[in-house]
Amino acid sequence: METDPCQGEREEMVEFQIRARGIGDPRVLAAMRKIPRHLFVPKGYERAAYEDQPLPIGEGQTISQPYIVAVMTEQLELKPQDRVLEVGTGSGYQAALLAELAATVISIERLEDLADRAQQNFDRAGVTGVRVVVGDGTQGYPPEAPYDAIVVTAASPTIPGPLIDQLAEGGRLIAPVGPRECQDLIKLVKHEGRVEEIPLGGVCFVPLIGQFGWRGEDRL
Ligand code: SAM
Repeated sequence: METDPCQGEREEMVEFQIRARGIGDPRVLAAMRKIPRHLFVPKGYERAAYEDQPLPIGEGQTISQPYIVAVMTEQLELKPQDRVLEVGTGSGYQAALLAELAATVISIERLEDLADRAQQNFDRAGVTGVRVVVGDGTQGYPPEAPYDAIVVTAASPTIPGPLIDQLAEGGRLIAPVGPRECQDLIKLVKHEGRVEEIPLGGVCFVPLIGQFGWRGEDRL
């Protein structure tokens, strides 16, 4: 990846929005310094790409606030050899970070247009380590399971059962869970087939629409 004119803004984002709020994992911080977030936002939004907020990416969806992406990524506790599933590719930004931190990244998106745009974003940013799949991520992605880590970037009333089933022993799953508007960010850790649940705080995500999530798009 070439150096770019947004490097300074990116350094500031990492310093003041991410590190200053307690994200300390050096690999996560390095990945956020490297991935050119402005290449993952729609045309016209580039100047806002490093601000402390989510942004629209079309189809009623969003690229999440950088800090929330950092929290979710750090909590996955990724090791270089890990296999990761992301549910909700969106812009592809979080998947690009995951590809810096793990060996295998599968990202599943239900909207084909967004999946295509995410692939274009990867191509522009020189990201090669993400495989995008179009489908209902509430069902997980059995062909590549089990996963050492699963991150769900849209919210559902409960954690979809297939995702828990597809988590490897010792695996970590992060997902927003609760009502349509705002939710609790939940971390699950699988030990000997059982899951420990750890609450991480309040968040507001777009709905996860699918067989094991919300069933309708009426309030999108
Ligand atoms: N991770 C994304 C990024 O870095 O830009 C942000 C994702 S956005 C907050 C949530 C995404 O989840 C949307 O693109 C939406 O279409 C997708 N989504 C919703 N339900 C889904 C499902 N059942 N399977 C896969 N993707 C889904």
